[in-house]
Amino acid sequence: MSIHRTHGIVLRTRKFRESSKIIVFFTRRYGKISAIAKGSLKPKSKFGSSLDLFARSSIIFYKKENRDLHTLSHSETLNANKEIAKDVVKLAYASAASEMVERLVPSEEQNETLYELLDAVLKQISVAERNQLELILASYALKMLYAVGYGPELAVCVRCGKDLGNEVWFGMHSGGALCSACHNQDLHAVEMSRATLELMRKFKSISLARLRETHSADEFSRDASDILYAFVRAQISEGAKIRSLDFLERMRDSSFA
Ligand SMILES: [Zn+2]
Repeated sequence: MSIHRTHGIVLRTRKFRESSKIIVFFTRRYGKISAIAKGSLKPKSKFGSSLDLFARSSIIFYKKENRDLHTLSHSETLNANKEIAKDVVKLAYASAASEMVERLVPSEEQNETLYELLDAVLKQISVAERNQLELILASYALKMLYAVGYGPELAVCVRCGKDLGNEVWFGMHSGGALCSACHNQDLHAVEMSRATLELMRKFKSISLARLRETHSADEFSRDASDILYAFVRAQISEGAKIRSLDFLERMRDSSFA
């Protein structure tokens, strides 16, 4: 058994037996881990609010070799991200952001870029206006794809390497933008406007904080998020679902958000 210290963001929790919880964290040093927090559901638990959904906490856990479930011994809140839980729409966006990570990455693989990105998206969702949330999540989805090695080619045609003209497609199977000569070679290519391509390039190059501060929600086209969420889904194993993203899209399309 070995002892480990790191910072972690709470992706998901579930009740375990009478008084405990199992927490899925995304940690800075160890990537995605699961740990049991014994007694965490008892009143006056030593863990306090540090295990609430989307909290970022400083944690200590014991790791048994060849086990997937570790034991949490200490956890202290660094940032509770409390604004998220107060707004059902923000909660839906934050849930989609964290579930995408959970589905895309294997357990216990360090990815500090992804940790920083998850931390950043939760902060931005906390402070954003509702009409900025779609912009933030779509940009985050693209940045996340690059962080895990599935980032799409957006500079040139992913098949022939030539410059993209005014007519552009996005190849779900090819993994990026396609020119007019190549789009027929990908059965899952969808047409997109030049403006959508430019927006995706911006999503790649500008930080989430800067994007939220400098871009009005009016500039946003739904096409970019539809394509990027579909591309995220194309990377997870067949048949697996990102339930909170499905929920978010239904909620958004019912014009509630
Ligand atoms: Zn081409």
